[in-house]
Amino acid sequence: MQRGLNIARVHTAARAVGLAQGALEDTTAYLQEREQFGHPIGDFQALRFTLADMAADVVQGRAMWWQVAHLLDEGVPCESEAAMVKLATTEMAVRVTNQAMQLHGGNGYTTERRVERYWRDARLTTIFEGTSEIQRRIISDRLLPRR
Ligand SMILES: Cc1cc2nc3c(=O)[nH]c(=O)nc-3n(C[C@H](O)[C@H](O)[C@H](O)COP(=O)(O)OP(=O)(O)OC[C@H]3O[C@@H](n4cnc5c(N)ncnc54)[C@H](O)[C@@H]3O)c2cc1C
Repeated sequence: MQRGLNIARVHTAARAVGLAQGALEDTTAYLQEREQFGHPIGDFQALRFTLADMAADVVQGRAMWWQVAHLLDEGVPCESEAAMVKLATTEMAVRVTNQAMQLHGGNGYTTERRVERYWRDARLTTIFEGTSEIQRRIISDRLLPRR
């Protein structure tokens, strides 16, 4: 039973990393496509720095996901790690897809662009397969057993 829950949490982490990667790729393309004030918006440093933060977040989340998926494959008990990767990557996906929507401006809020869907689906990943609050409870109970 516990192994099944661990698998589901690592599976949800994979979805979250994929959503964030999609948002990063679409945003990279949009920064080159959209022009304002006579420039592609990707020339504006504030947006370039946000893109860099997004990329670093996605790479970090993927590395953590690989690590915990490896523990699962090896049959190592990893309840706490599975809760951590679920928490960290799904919250990362919310952050990154939110930044993606911001960098798409008004277009990002419409259903014409995929970032709206990435953001909406990222929000779900922090709710199902155990909410973020429940993951925090699992992790903190392992770190600090209740008396
Ligand atoms: C699109 C979608 C698909 C879903 N698919 C499935 C599925 O395939 N299989 C399935 O079994 N379920 C599925 N669910 C249900 C999902 O797992 C639950 O919505 C989720 O577990 C949260 O439960 P709840 O909605 O009853 O919220 P509640 O339990 O009412 O939670 C409300 C808030 O209280 C917090 N909270 C609750 N209890 C505690 C606690 N003890 N400590 C701290 N905070 C707490 C929660 O974190 C949340 O912030 C799906 C939900 C959605 C929206």
